[in-house]
Amino acid sequence: MILQFWGAAQTVTGSMHLVEANGHRLLLDCGMAQGRRQEANKLNSEFPFDVKGIDAVVLSHAHLDHSGKLPLLVKNGFSGSIFSTSATRDLCSAMLADSASLQEMDAKYVNRQNEKQGLPFIKPLYTMHDVANAMRLFQTVEFRRPLEILPGIRMTFRNAGHILGSASVALEIAEDRGSEKKVTTLAFTGDLGRKGAAVVRDPETIERADVLITESTYGGRSHGPMNEARKNLARVVSQTANNGGLLIIPAFAVGRTQDVVYHLHELMESKEIPSMPVYVDSPLATNITEIFRQHPECFDEETEQLLMQDGGGDPFGFYMLKYTHSTEESKKLNDIRRPAIIISASGMCEGGRVLHHLRRNIGDPKTTVLFVGFQAENTLGRKLLRGDKTARIYGEEYQVRARMEAIDGYSAHADEEELLDFIAAIPNKPQHVFVVHGEPDATAAMAAGLARLGIGNVTIPERGERFEV
Ligand SMILES: [Zn+2]
Repeated sequence: MILQFWGAAQTVTGSMHLVEANGHRLLLDCGMAQGRRQEANKLNSEFPFDVKGIDAVVLSHAHLDHSGKLPLLVKNGFSGSIFSTSATRDLCSAMLADSASLQEMDAKYVNRQNEKQGLPFIKPLYTMHDVANAMRLFQTVEFRRPLEILPGIRMTFRNAGHILGSASVALEIAEDRGSEKKVTTLAFTGDLGRKGAAVVRDPETIERADVLITESTYGGRSHGPMNEARKNLARVVSQTANNGGLLIIPAFAVGRTQDVVYHLHELMESKEIPSMPVYVDSPLATNITEIFRQHPECFDEETEQLLMQDGGGDPFGFYMLKYTHSTEESKKLNDIRRPAIIISASGMCEGGRVLHHLRRNIGDPKTTVLFVGFQAENTLGRKLLRGDKTARIYGEEYQVRARMEAIDGYSAHADEEELLDFIAAIPNKPQHVFVVHGEPDATAAMAAGLARLGIGNVTIPERGERFEV
C-alpha cells in the first residue's frame, strides 16, 4: 500500500492522507488549513491530486480541519462515498453549512473593502449548494460495525473520545502478493480525546495496527487534571465578576463549549462562582445541542443519566444560559450588562462571530479572553496568547488591552502521556508509525516517546511525502 500525506504534516490543521491499495485510492479526512491567511487560502482552494481518481473518503470527525474541504472535493468532481459515524454526519450537516455561510459572509465583507480600494473581488470557496451535494454522498457506519468499504478494504470505527461521533479508523487491507493474500491493518487515531472528559465517552483501544498514523498535537506536553481546569475556570470567572467586565471564550461550537457550559452550570449551582449571564453566541449552537440529544450512543454514563432524568434533564442548558441564533441577537450582545460571559467560535479566532466581540472589546482592560483549546501557529488566537499588543481583525489594527488567560485541561486532545499509553495498549506492536497533526517540536517529542516504547520505525512525514509500506 502507498501512503501520501497531504495535510496535518508537521502542522495541526488541514488533515488529509491519501491511501492507495488494491488499485483503489481513498482519503483519510479532507480538512481545511488554518493559519497564515494567504498560505491557508491557497491550500484550501485546490487539491494536489486528481480528485476524480479518489474512490472513497473516510472521515474521522466533524471538525472543519478534518472535514472542511469535502464540499470543494465534491464540487471538483468527487462522486464516491464519504464514510463517517452518524453523529459525525449530523454534525457535518450543520458545521459545513455554517462554514459555507461564513465564507459567503466573509467574502462579502472583504469585497466591500476591496471595492473601496479598487481591488478585485474574491469568491467564497464553496456555497450551500456544494454542501448539499457533499451531504448526499455520506454513508454512515457505527462504532465497532466492520464494513467492506472498497474491494479488499474492511473498515472499523472506534470511539476516539475527542468530540461527539469522533472515531479512530482501522483499515484491514488484503493485498494480492503473487499467489498469497497479505492482510495489513492500517490504523489512524484521528484526533484522540482525554480520559475522564465531561460528556463524551473515553477513547477505545485499537485492536490491531501494523501501520499506525497518530496525531501528536500535545506531544511533549502534559495537561493538568480535569478538576484543575474546573478550579481555574472558577478563578477566571470570579475575576470577571470582581472587575465587572466581559469574559470572552473563543471555542468551537462542538467540543469544549459543551464541557465549559457543563462546568459553569455546576459552579453556579454550587455557588462557587457568582451567577452571571452566559451567552453561547453561535448560529450553530442550538442545532448542535439538538444533535447531541440524538446521539446517546456517544455519551458517558454521567451525561446519559442526566438526559434520562424525568422531565428531560438538559446537560447543555441552565437558567443563566442563552443561545443566540440570529445575527440580530448576536449584535444585541454589544450592549449587554456586565459582568457576562460570551462563548463564541471560532476557537482559534480565525473567523466567526468571536471576531466581532474581540474587535469591540479587546481594547478594554476589563475584558478577559480565555482560551480553552489549542492555538495553532500564525492564528490570531496564538498571537493574542503570546501577548501581542495589537491585533489585526478584518484588515484593521486594534490595540490590545484585554487580559489573556488559558486553561489547558479543557483540551479535546490527549496529552503526550495519554497518547503513548493509548499506543502502548495496542496488543501488537506497530511496525511503522507515522506522526502527524503536530507542530515540529510536538512531533519530535512524540517520536522520542515512541522510541521509549521500543518502536524504532517512526516517520514524521512532510507535506506531499509518499511511502510504500
Ligand atoms: Zn478535532
